[in-house]
Amino acid sequence: MNKLAKLVKEAEYEDLLKLRKDINEGNMLRLVEERIAQFENPHRVCPVCNTPIDPETALTLYFGPKGLRHRASFDGEDCLEYFVTKLAKPKQQHR
Ligand SMILES: [Zn+2]
Repeated sequence: MNKLAKLVKEAEYEDLLKLRKDINEGNMLRLVEERIAQFENPHRVCPVCNTPIDPETALTLYFGPKGLRHRASFDGEDCLEYFVTKLAKPKQQHR
């Protein structure tokens, strides 16, 4: 039997009520989508602070010449700003 189906069959009444609420409110789908995204993009962490990035709130920057476009995603404006500052002044990188 499917692992999840087995879980539901053995769940307590209270847990089933919570589960139904989560499914109805879309929380379960969001959780599944997030987990899938983690498998498909395992390296999606902020390049500045290494925090895993939530695809729903990520700030993504595209830069570089056409055909050699790079993409970087950040978890917050402060990290994006830091990255852009560093990018603008590459000589100060190793300070
Ligand atoms: Zn960050």
